[in-house]
Amino acid sequence: MLDRNNFLKDQNTLHQFHPMTHPLISREHRPQIIVDSDGCYVTDIDGNRMVDGLGGLWNVNVGHNRAEVKAAIVKQMDRISYYSSFAGTATAPSIELSARVCQMGATEEVDKVMFSANGSDAVETALKLARQYWKLVGEPMRTKFISLKQGYHGVHFGGLSVNGTPYYRTVYEPLLPGCFQIDTPWTYRNPYSEDPAELTNAVITQLERTIYHEGAGTIAAFIAEPIQGAGGVIVPPADFWPRLRAVCDQHGILLIADEVVTGFGRSGSMFGSRGWGVKPDIMCLAKGITSGYVPLGATTLNKRVASAWYDGFTPEGVIMHGYTSTGHPLACAAALAVLDIVEGEDLPGNAARMGERLMAGLKPLAETCSVVGEVRGKGLMIGLDFVSDKKTRTPIDPGTGIVERIAGYAREKGAIVRPAGSVIILSPPLVIGEAEIDVIIDALTYGCARYDAETRA
Ligand code: PMP
Repeated sequence: MLDRNNFLKDQNTLHQFHPMTHPLISREHRPQIIVDSDGCYVTDIDGNRMVDGLGGLWNVNVGHNRAEVKAAIVKQMDRISYYSSFAGTATAPSIELSARVCQMGATEEVDKVMFSANGSDAVETALKLARQYWKLVGEPMRTKFISLKQGYHGVHFGGLSVNGTPYYRTVYEPLLPGCFQIDTPWTYRNPYSEDPAELTNAVITQLERTIYHEGAGTIAAFIAEPIQGAGGVIVPPADFWPRLRAVCDQHGILLIADEVVTGFGRSGSMFGSRGWGVKPDIMCLAKGITSGYVPLGATTLNKRVASAWYDGFTPEGVIMHGYTSTGHPLACAAALAVLDIVEGEDLPGNAARMGERLMAGLKPLAETCSVVGEVRGKGLMIGLDFVSDKKTRTPIDPGTGIVERIAGYAREKGAIVRPAGSVIILSPPLVIGEAEIDVIIDALTYGCARYDAETRA
């Protein structure tokens, strides 16, 4: 087994580029090869079985290796594995799934859905359809987008342009013109106020000033995640989204909720925007829709937006967008089986309950561990923010390797957790139970204590 392990790692170094890392780093820190899975656990090639504290990559919500999902994919494969949604054909699973997604999003008045293969595609589809909407309703000047700093909207050129972290963007510039980022309402780190209500006021004022400066009639949409994920699990004050919705309404601006992570239960409600009591015009969905069993993205439109396409035929109304994999039958079949589990087992409710337990177990680390500044999150999206100075809240320099080291210790104790810059991110499967939650708590508590003991020695 050791030979095969080394052989695969050598081949990997020789042939594969990995996302979001330098190839020299992947050569030095060779990947842990995951070979098996069951429920909330994964097993690596060396036989280590660990709780999957990442849920794949925020996506394996129903847990790994579910017989129902596998059966649904195979059943569809036995009929037809692929046919196109272009040119007058369709497959049954995509039709059934479109109705299902609209019905699940009914309180957001979801009327139409357009499928793709990834979260980045779902965002690209949202941005393009938002621009097309304004052409159709006779306001072609509305082309610009506003978003939040620290926001993450995938890696395509449109998504990158509204992405709120320059680090992702810089080497791929120039990007789309007409994209503006305002400050994120982040209570732990902002130059305005620690008071949530004052902070919302400050950010909403910034938004209004940006709209005034650019001209409301030039802005197509505002896009944001209901809770920022990749940016470090940043939960806005509870009144932020309702205020955002009100400002968008006042100026006619479309509101796009990027629910790629928050969609289908992760934050403790079926959609993150619903958790804030807000109905977006457009939602971007992916990840949890199939729990990662087969890639799938989806972009939903509410009645206001979708109705623009039904005002009579015009050449501008032709949807000149779509992917070979739009409506892929295997992905849609997987999604239908996954959504049965999400609803049947009330995974949003479990995420809320287990999230509270995980949070309660980890919160004390902000007091006991010298480098944990804050533990924050909602539902099963939790971040541990590591700082070099608790008073100034200066993020720990990822170059010190401290966050990676603590994550490594947690892994030794049986939990995979994700170091992302100066934050450790947790997003376990939503089917997780108390026993596995406690493994994650114990593993991180051990990792932090060991780090402190070693640095004191
Ligand atoms: N939007 C958000 C909020 C995301 O978190 C992600 C991925 N983590 C994406 C878009 C992009 O999704 P994908 O990686 O599937 O393209």
